Amino acid sequence: MTVLRSGSASDVGRVRTVNEDRALESPTLFAVADGMGGHAGGEVAASITIEALQAAFVRTPTPDGLVAAVEEANRAVWERGVGDQALRGMGTTVTAAGLVVTPDGDRLLLVNVGDSRAYRLHAGVLDQLSVDHSVAEELVAQGALSEEEAAVHPKRHILTRALGISPHVEVDLWEVVPVEGDRYLLCSDGLSNEVTADVLARVLSSERDPRTAAETLVGLANDFGGNDNITAVVVDVLVGEGTGDTTAAGAAATAVAVAEDLTGAVDATDARTDVPPASPPSGHAAAAGNGAVGVVTAPASRPGPVAATVEEAPTRRKGPRRITFRVLLFLILLGGLAYGAWYVIKVYVGDSYFVGLEKDQLVIYQGRPGGFLGLNPKIVTHTGVTTAQVGSIVVPALRAGVQEPTRTAANKYVAGLVAAQCSLENPPPTCAATTTTTSTVPVTTTPGGL
Ligand code: MN
Repeated sequence: MTVLRSGSASDVGRVRTVNEDRALESPTLFAVADGMGGHAGGEVAASITIEALQAAFVRTPTPDGLVAAVEEANRAVWERGVGDQALRGMGTTVTAAGLVVTPDGDRLLLVNVGDSRAYRLHAGVLDQLSVDHSVAEELVAQGALSEEEAAVHPKRHILTRALGISPHVEVDLWEVVPVEGDRYLLCSDGLSNEVTADVLARVLSSERDPRTAAETLVGLANDFGGNDNITAVVVDVLVGEGTGDTTAAGAAATAVAVAEDLTGAVDATDARTDVPPASPPSGHAAAAGNGAVGVVTAPASRPGPVAATVEEAPTRRKGPRRITFRVLLFLILLGGLAYGAWYVIKVYVGDSYFVGLEKDQLVIYQGRPGGFLGLNPKIVTHTGVTTAQVGSIVVPALRAGVQEPTRTAANKYVAGLVAAQCSLENPPPTCAATTTTTSTVPVTTTPGGL
């Protein structure tokens, strides 16, 4: 039984006129959404996300359920944006923590899309658990940029993933053990950009009340500039699972359990094969003493039983093998199954479409991104739309391939991207011509491609 207590604070900051951040505190679900987009877009995107997320998670409070809830929220924002001229191009980040009951005990699930963050304070040490989906962070991941350079990189605010910019979204998920005394912080970039991790850690370590802690952090972000909306949700684990293991310790515990299993196997082997006692006890001691070493050493004592099995095997094969009726029937069934599987795969691949890029032009492929079992995707439509006409934020997604259920849906998606970009405050110069481009998308369709 896990007991959580939370507190939050949100502020418009010192520069912006509207607060487009939204926070959620419920008994088992906590979230921060940082909306973006002209007019009321950002607020609407963040609000829709929080509502849809909560409604879906209440229905299915499981790890898969939480990921599905984020996908549902994404759909809701996307559909609203496509359907409403004034809201086109809106999007939002989301970082959430949900408490679920699993067969192994209670777990805290963290999900993230965008550059809002999830931190954990454990024994006075603050760790960032989430990974930002920003251009700068991706450069760090590729080794092209250091963390310090990323913090001041001009493209640090450009997101590579957000909710509402495509009908599909990729969600990052982490599962952690809620340990008594641990404290979690969910926050928008308006906090993490202004307040260093050291200061975050100091405040979170010293302010006992979660709400006071959140308010103090938001106040500091304002003191340091308040250049963006600022939101913080602080979640305390009052009563937790286990004995004070962190996730890392939890992983170690798993490793130990594995080692014990192997040790058990070695012991059982001893009884069966009468291996001289000299080597197994040393393996046993290593396994008991250190999980990691145990995992490595234990297999070394395994050749015993394996060799025994190999020796036994030939003696069982007596008499020549003949193809009986049953074997024939089995082969026929196997052939049928193989044909069935091939047919299903062919339909699966042939019935799939995705929007991708050919150089800088958006094209519609039939098949699966990257191909599937040797069946390569083929271009069925050159849309005539270039990456300059759509938001730079969707380009990485297009490069990977945005899947759509039908070719019509794929065409609609492309038209929606162009329309969204043209409804921005500073539309690209191509927009004057875009109205015609968009309407001719289905017409320029050339079946068979190229
Ligand atoms: Mn922000």
